Amino acid sequence: MTAQVDVRLLSDIQRYGAADVSACFSCGTCTATCPLVSEDATFPRRMIRYAQVGLRDKLLSSKELWTCYACGECSESCPTQAEPSEFMAAARRYAIASYDRTGLARLMYTRPIIGTLIAVILAAFFALFMYAAHGPQSTTSLDIFGFIPEALIHDLGIVVMAVVFLAGLAGVATMVRRLGTANAVTLRAVVGSRAALRRSAGALWSALGVESLGQRRYRADCDSDASLAPWYRRRWFLHASTMWGFLGLLAATIIDYGLALAGIKATGTPVPIWYPVRLLGTVSGLLLLYGVSMLIVQRYRGVERSVRHSTAADWTFLALVWITGVTGFAIELALYLPSAPAWGYWLFLFHVAVAMELVLLAPFMKFAHAVYRPVALFFLALAVHE
Ligand code: SF4
Ligand code: SF4
Repeated sequence: MTAQVDVRLLSDIQRYGAADVSACFSCGTCTATCPLVSEDATFPRRMIRYAQVGLRDKLLSSKELWTCYACGECSESCPTQAEPSEFMAAARRYAIASYDRTGLARLMYTRPIIGTLIAVILAAFFALFMYAAHGPQSTTSLDIFGFIPEALIHDLGIVVMAVVFLAGLAGVATMVRRLGTANAVTLRAVVGSRAALRRSAGALWSALGVESLGQRRYRADCDSDASLAPWYRRRWFLHASTMWGFLGLLAATIIDYGLALAGIKATGTPVPIWYPVRLLGTVSGLLLLYGVSMLIVQRYRGVERSVRHSTAADWTFLALVWITGVTGFAIELALYLPSAPAWGYWLFLFHVAVAMELVLLAPFMKFAHAVYRPVALFFLALAVHE
């Protein structure tokens, strides 16, 4: 089969933040330096080469694109300052936009002003939509669901989740099709026999449990600041803290909803701090807020090579997560005040609007890597277990 050449590939990827890799002369120093390179995954030199010669399909079918953790070590060693680390980050943004059929991810990444406007308009839309159905503001206790009906938030949440699920599924299906063809992995090879199922279960555990939740290679191999910073300021911990916090909050929300359905506790009822689901939510919220605040500070300072280049979409995503976390804690505090502050109601409206927007935009921004990376790691683990 003849490979199609896209002559605009390199310039296209540069719109997603890549430095000018035309200076790269394929010496391979970056690949030799990268702590995550293995026999089954060689990068970044090969990825750069694909872009230079216009092999778009090869690039988008590479699981290696997602096994890089952006530590920046390769850029330190590049003799021509071609910034291979930044190229990998930009190529991942390009891949997110290419897997997305709506074109929204492309807009968010390549048109910063329009992307920011979309974010503002979406939040305003959600806020106005909910405000249109608002109820009274009790002054004795902060009755947030008396102000914005819980049923409305629930129904809106279902619609948002459905859109996100469909958009995410379409993106993952495109990626799986590409990776499956490129790596000669068929459905039969994944689930076609007992041996195949065993191998797939092992690969799934490796991708989700060991690498994604446990951050094994990030911790062990790609922790370039290991000797310079205490554990709580290392990149892997900030990344993990944000992810664990997010997953914990998701679990707390689902459990809280389950308790309400079972008639055990109505959503939003004040409970003591040691109440298990509240404790889970509080600890998770703190983890998320700590992780994302430190990531913002690191990006702002730009001292480390790994975060020196940020796109407007990266900032938008971090800002939305941070705003959701801070306003969530402020509302929790307001719930326990002796009388209901009026600001508590407006903050709640703002919090829900931003949270809805964050979820809705998730498949079109940096968050998408939380889905695409485990898929690539699954294919990588399958190759290793062969
Ligand atoms: S990016 Fe730099 S280190 Fe890597 S192959 Fe090109 S010139 Fe060599
Ligand atoms: S940024 Fe780090 S993990 Fe990514 S290719 Fe460079 S050295 Fe490897």
